[in-house]
Amino acid sequence: MLSYWERETFLSADVIIVGGGITGLSTALSIKEKRGNLSVLILEKDILARGASTRNAGFACFGSPTELLEDIEIMGAEKALQLVAMRWSGLQLLRKRLTNKELGISQYGGYELLEDSLKIELSDLNNWLMPVFGQPVFQDASNKLHGFGFKGYDRMIFTPFEAQLDTGKTIDSLWRKAEMQGIRILTGSKVVGWKSTGGVVNVETLGMDESLVFKTKKLIIANNAFMSMMKPAMDIQPGRGQVFITHPISDLKFRGSFHTDRGYVYFRNVGNRVLIGGGRNKDFETEKTLKQGENQAIIRYLHGILEKRIIPGVAYKIDIKWSGIMAFGQEKYPILHWSEPDVYLAVRLGGMGMALASHIGEHVSKEIINSIES
Ligand SMILES: Cc1cc2nc3c(=O)[nH]c(=O)nc-3n(C[C@H](O)[C@H](O)[C@H](O)COP(=O)(O)OP(=O)(O)OC[C@H]3O[C@@H](n4cnc5c(N)ncnc54)[C@H](O)[C@@H]3O)c2cc1C
Repeated sequence: MLSYWERETFLSADVIIVGGGITGLSTALSIKEKRGNLSVLILEKDILARGASTRNAGFACFGSPTELLEDIEIMGAEKALQLVAMRWSGLQLLRKRLTNKELGISQYGGYELLEDSLKIELSDLNNWLMPVFGQPVFQDASNKLHGFGFKGYDRMIFTPFEAQLDTGKTIDSLWRKAEMQGIRILTGSKVVGWKSTGGVVNVETLGMDESLVFKTKKLIIANNAFMSMMKPAMDIQPGRGQVFITHPISDLKFRGSFHTDRGYVYFRNVGNRVLIGGGRNKDFETEKTLKQGENQAIIRYLHGILEKRIIPGVAYKIDIKWSGIMAFGQEKYPILHWSEPDVYLAVRLGGMGMALASHIGEHVSKEIINSIES
């Protein structure tokens, strides 16, 4: 049962966003930065935004050489380059919005580790990327393999354009910024449905023990993989990712972000710790889930890589393991379109959504403002 005050004050906003991850936060900020007079409300089902945005590896990346070559093969050179441009533009926007301190940035660069059988022509890749970066992106860095202490790799490719984020600081800073801009974020508010009639969208939520209906002019759905539950017919496949981080290792020999196994395995230093994740390709079927949880086979596989190839002969202990839920589809492109006259979808961010999200936020904010003002 609602009070008069609740109905009048809390249950409506010009724009409502479903999902308080990086896409929801970035979109809310982009709208507020352009139109401070619009009221923006984010409804987040969890206590924290616990899909992918607070659970990822913090690579500020745009695709390793093998990932990019695979993208070109699947979607063609032109579309693949557009996707790189979106990721790169998203990273620039994120770095404009937050300071290095707020992002917890470390600019060590990124590497891809390869085995001999994989031949990659760096000059072709660099020429293809020239319209986005304006200078060569990748260079051979195999001479550093020994110094980093890695075993079982024959070649290493380096890019100075990649960086590391502190994922926790980044999301916390976006959240604080949103609150400072007057964006209201209600956690524990699971959206269970919506109905669009005559220029008003009624958004139904499941609170602690009561269902509440919010009203808005424009609804933005930014719940990434969880959209697959609400609209099963859409081309959205959840993909769980496994991650663990070690306790500090004295004399850790490398700094940077590393991709291997065509991007399916990634690792980085976090101070003197090693964070490693991925390995979905070892058990795709089990990992097609929206449920957080541990996959023992994948964890064992990641341990094997860590022990035999990354820090061979070095004793380590795991501090904490976790999982996060990504969203994939037949296409690597995010889904960005109106699904109904007043409902916009910004979902399916894939494995590099920390990079994409700010670009998407800008795009969606323009769509929403145009639609409100037209
Ligand atoms: C293990 C792992 C490692 C990754 N590493 C990287 C990386 O290094 N670099 C990179 O760029 N990207 C990485 N990613 C991908 C990146 O984290 C995601 O693409 C990005 O965070 C997606 O953001 P989002 O806001 O769209 O979705 P999410 O972060 O999933 O946010 C969606 C939010 O919607 C909420 N929600 C869902 N349903 C409802 C509902 N019905 N009502 C209200 N709220 C709802 C969820 O609780 C969630 O908080 C990684 C992802 C994972 C899982």
